[in-house]
Amino acid sequence: MSLKGCIDLHCHTTASDGSLSPRELVRKAARLGLEAVAITDHDTIAGVDEGMHAGRDYGIEVVPGVEISTGIDTFTPHLLGYFIDPASAPLREALDRMKQYRDERNPRLIARLNELGIPITLEQVRRQAGGELIGRPHFARVLVNLGAAKTVQDAFDRYLGSAGSAYIQKKRMPADEAVRAILDGRGAPVLAHPFTLTRHGADLENILKPLLDAGLKGLEVYYPDHTEEETHTFQRLADRLGLVKTGGSDFHGSAKPEIKLGTGLGGDWCIKVNILPALRSLVV
Ligand code: AMP
Ligand code: FE
Ligand code: FE
Ligand code: ZN
Repeated sequence: MSLKGCIDLHCHTTASDGSLSPRELVRKAARLGLEAVAITDHDTIAGVDEGMHAGRDYGIEVVPGVEISTGIDTFTPHLLGYFIDPASAPLREALDRMKQYRDERNPRLIARLNELGIPITLEQVRRQAGGELIGRPHFARVLVNLGAAKTVQDAFDRYLGSAGSAYIQKKRMPADEAVRAILDGRGAPVLAHPFTLTRHGADLENILKPLLDAGLKGLEVYYPDHTEEETHTFQRLADRLGLVKTGGSDFHGSAKPEIKLGTGLGGDWCIKVNILPALRSLVV
């Protein structure tokens, strides 16, 4: 089945916690017949240049992007940035700060796991990560390899998740600051997978308020985990707030094997290519 007329605006690569390199991701997208693919790694744009080059080689549009993990109160919204300028100094500075937050947390997480009797080293996790970004999913895979957890999910449940015995909170960038960093990088800021905020109606709008004030431009309405009802609710919300409705699979390759590039959970799911001009018009 060709995915002509479809795009995927949410994909991870080995630059963060995906299993395909940027080039492999773009090649796969082109082979599937997708008309565009966005590279949206967690807190890094390290995969963007390689992906853009691959886009030229394989004849598919590659949207330079990023997904920034943020915090507001107890909520942890993820902010997608599209058509960002990878050379932007203020955006790079913001992402460097995000890396510092990780670099502060990761050794503490190792120390905590060691205290629990698990002989894990930062070097092992670094090797597992491969790229510059080291996140909990990489810790989880090493814990599985060491036999300390049965699966990645088990590693989160027992150790790494917020209820786990080795949970160490990392410093979070305020969500409105991330919106501004994306705007500074000449990108379009979009709230990712709004269902993860687990709030609706006025409660959700209260969370969105500072983001809208900072210049939020879009809402990721189409997402594999959204129920049909949630999709409709988020569509209406986006329309009412004047936000562009975007969508993507959150592809991570074999790191999240149930999610397929372009089609999410499968079937005839398709993010329509006509979203792209609407998104692009926000940044020109
Ligand atoms: P980090 O940014 O290093 O704190 O890692 C966050 C990433 O860990 C998220 O993007 C998820 O992919 C993953 N993650 C967080 N919580 C869980 C969980 N309970 N189960 C599985 N994966 C999780
Ligand atoms: Fe991830
Ligand atoms: Fe996310
Ligand atoms: Zn994602």
